[in-house]
Amino acid sequence: MPKDYYDLLGVNREADTSEIKKAYRKIAMKFHPDKNPGDKEAEEKFKEAAEAYAVLSDAEKRRIYDQYGHQGLKGNGGFGGFDQTIFADFEDILGSFFGFGGGRKRQSSGSRVRPGRDMQMGIKITFEEAFHGVEKTLDLTRPEACDSCDGSGLKKGARLQTCGTCGGYGQVQMQSGFFAISRTCPHCQGAGQVVQPGDQCGECRGKGLIERQRSITVPIQAGVDTGMRVRVRGQGEGGLFGGPAGDLYLVIQVEEHPDFERKDYDLYYRLPIGFSQAALGTTVEIQTLDKAVQLDIPAGTQSGTRFRVRHAGFPVLGQKTHGDLFVEAIIHTPTKLSKREKEIFLELAKLEEQTTPIGERSVFQKVKDLFQ
Ligand SMILES: [Zn+2]
Ligand SMILES: [Zn+2]
Repeated sequence: MPKDYYDLLGVNREADTSEIKKAYRKIAMKFHPDKNPGDKEAEEKFKEAAEAYAVLSDAEKRRIYDQYGHQGLKGNGGFGGFDQTIFADFEDILGSFFGFGGGRKRQSSGSRVRPGRDMQMGIKITFEEAFHGVEKTLDLTRPEACDSCDGSGLKKGARLQTCGTCGGYGQVQMQSGFFAISRTCPHCQGAGQVVQPGDQCGECRGKGLIERQRSITVPIQAGVDTGMRVRVRGQGEGGLFGGPAGDLYLVIQVEEHPDFERKDYDLYYRLPIGFSQAALGTTVEIQTLDKAVQLDIPAGTQSGTRFRVRHAGFPVLGQKTHGDLFVEAIIHTPTKLSKREKEIFLELAKLEEQTTPIGERSVFQKVKDLFQ
């Protein structure tokens, strides 16, 4: 047998709304699950009282209950769950128990102030632009706050109306067994207030935002690399109701360079040098992206030898320093020889037979050395 709702609240059948409210508040505070952790009996009492209050505080449901009892409420749209507006006065004690913790009724128009969303777009720059820094002008289409209504979506003189779907809470509940699960109201997106069709701003049709084409100039610092995100404050989507605009994020992609490779802030360069330069040693000049660098190649340099030139690399983002330049010597073997060159190489080859270990001969040489 379900318990009598009047008994549950400890009031008589003639009790008026304020008596019922007072009685319920007392019981709800006493048996609140937060105050009685793990106490099933208290939780049961708490739920029963809530159900009793939900019925007795609603004039129509109370009338049916008085006339037909529990049976009358069944299938009569009677106690189908908890209408949160009934419990609005008890938010202080119920808190999140029924899923509307913090679900304060939003009435001031200020509560709809919403910052604009961030936007993201890719941007391609050349290797040189990444090195020196660059100012880029971008054309983009973005939603901006409507000028005529300041992002409110309202025509002049009109006001926001309480959302009928959620009663102004911004949250609606779905009943799941005894418990109510609340979620953001789909009608007002949690704002609790809506622009009625007749009150819409003609310019933005009540949205508060208008798509606009913009050309913006963005400074990009020297040193940026592929994958870095540059944040441009206030250049994202417009805010609503005077809210600030979001930010624009530019995702950098740096094009490759035919001569230089980059790793972090170091530059890599492959320097082709002649056979004789490598043997005799030489001084070369390497034109980097901002200056000419002198590099001494010592006599006897092997192909693949790497030289480091400090601070001749990429500028370090936000600092005054540079990475390093690594120069890899690549010995260039001539493919076409003039008659004269051929003579010299042949002569050289004769000499090498006696002096320079080459390839397999060098192994033979080493073995020979062992016996000497
Ligand atoms: Zn709503
Ligand atoms: Zn507007």
